Amino acid sequence: MQWKTHITTTLALTLPLVAASNEVSWINVGALAVGSLLPDIDHPQSVIGKRHKVVSNVTRTAFGHRGITHSFIGIFVVYGLMLFFQKNYLAPPTKWLPFWLIVGYLAHIIEDSFSSRGVHWTWPFFNKKRKQRLFIYYRTGSLSEYLLLGFFMCLIIVELYLFYQAAWSHIIPVDVQGKIGMWIMRIQTMLYF
Ligand SMILES: [Zn+2]
Repeated sequence: MQWKTHITTTLALTLPLVAASNEVSWINVGALAVGSLLPDIDHPQSVIGKRHKVVSNVTRTAFGHRGITHSFIGIFVVYGLMLFFQKNYLAPPTKWLPFWLIVGYLAHIIEDSFSSRGVHWTWPFFNKKRKQRLFIYYRTGSLSEYLLLGFFMCLIIVELYLFYQAAWSHIIPVDVQGKIGMWIMRIQTMLYF
């Protein structure tokens, strides 16, 4: 998946969650967007890889593309580092930045799992041939990816409209939103150790 499809898909799928938890801010939405690009740092031609050539080449040479950065281990490492950084160097308004960043990161890997190349979630364990595609999949850069991009772009527009009209409750009832928000808060508190 290309970077624009990753950002668009991730935001379309996660904005309702940020809204339900009452945490819509530039910091959190920015964290989601950056998180959705971060796993491809192991690809020197990616948006993030181009800007961090050294990190990009090191991760690619050491772990291969879609190696550690696209695995459970990668998720733990990135979250741990972000949490440490936030607690020691950032101001309180960024408290949930590591959480939303890792949500974006996770979304990226889930999105890649639907590509024809698949993802090696359990890296470095188990055979690479475990990288199996799912039942429904798209090919990177093909028409199927552009269709996804178009669909999720429309979805974001609808979501933003609903948000600014304060009309989310037309789609998701207030009590359901409250429950989702409560669950997100529980997970956030649990992960903020
Ligand atoms: Zn990727």
